[in-house]
Amino acid sequence: MTSEEQSRVEAWLRYFSDLGFSETYRNRGFNPLSYDAMRLADNASYDHSADEWRPPEVMARVAAPEPSRDFTTAAGASSALSPLIAAGSSATASPAPLPILQSASLFEGSNRVEDDSMDKIRETIGDCTRCRLHEKRNKIVFGVGDTKAQLVFIGEGPGRDEDVQGEPFVGRAGKLLTQMIEAMGLRRENVYICNVVKCRPPENRTPEKDEMKICSQFLLRQLGVIKPKAIVCLGNVAAQALLGPTTGVSRTRGRWFDFAGSRLMPTYHPAYLLRNPAAKSIVWADLQLVMAFLGLQLSRSAKRAQPPA
Ligand code: SF4
Repeated sequence: MTSEEQSRVEAWLRYFSDLGFSETYRNRGFNPLSYDAMRLADNASYDHSADEWRPPEVMARVAAPEPSRDFTTAAGASSALSPLIAAGSSATASPAPLPILQSASLFEGSNRVEDDSMDKIRETIGDCTRCRLHEKRNKIVFGVGDTKAQLVFIGEGPGRDEDVQGEPFVGRAGKLLTQMIEAMGLRRENVYICNVVKCRPPENRTPEKDEMKICSQFLLRQLGVIKPKAIVCLGNVAAQALLGPTTGVSRTRGRWFDFAGSRLMPTYHPAYLLRNPAAKSIVWADLQLVMAFLGLQLSRSAKRAQPPA
């Protein structure tokens, strides 16, 4: 099996795992690698950031805002923000955090370090070779931003641009994330941005579970140092790393979870939004819940601007 085929099969398995079917095929001998299964995967749309194969009807549901959510139309947005707020909304209330009911996250059993600091964490990482991702990396992408930030964004792992520059979210998806942050009335330096794994997976493949488990000890320590009020997980991989493997971002986005003393909100990855611009309004709705929780207001320029067509 080629690495590309293996990635497709793994993505397909994660899709069914996300739907809760893992026990079904285990117990009934269903072969997930069967021709029909692969054909289904071929006919589906692969959402890399959400890390799932999605049949068209599922994609249609994902693209539509959840009808039960109560958002009102945003007063407006600056032209720079208009793509993000295209069908914008304004959160009217921050829902209570939900208990984490799914299986344990990768952080279960991780040890905390007394008097920890970012310098200590960076020192511990060193020229890390703890997992196979070190083999093809250019730079370790530690994280960037305010180490006392109230808000932390967590992505999946570095891409090509990040690997070259040693900074998270600096490519096209990173520019969109910056736009999202500025839409919230903040700047990149006001928040902290990092990833579940700190080295680029080859060919931008999804990090393996063992790679995430090894590397996430550093992320947990970073969160322990920052102690943010809110964490936004960008995409399925980050959400599952923190909340557990059965949690799909399409079902958890826009909802609050408790995580190690912080509130955690999963939403779609900016890379997903680049391919699915219609989902920008969904992410903006999620971010407005975060804004409400943090007491952030839309900027005056954003309020003055004309709503986008
Ligand atoms: S991904 Fe994390 S654990 Fe793996 S080599 Fe890089 S820093 Fe070390």
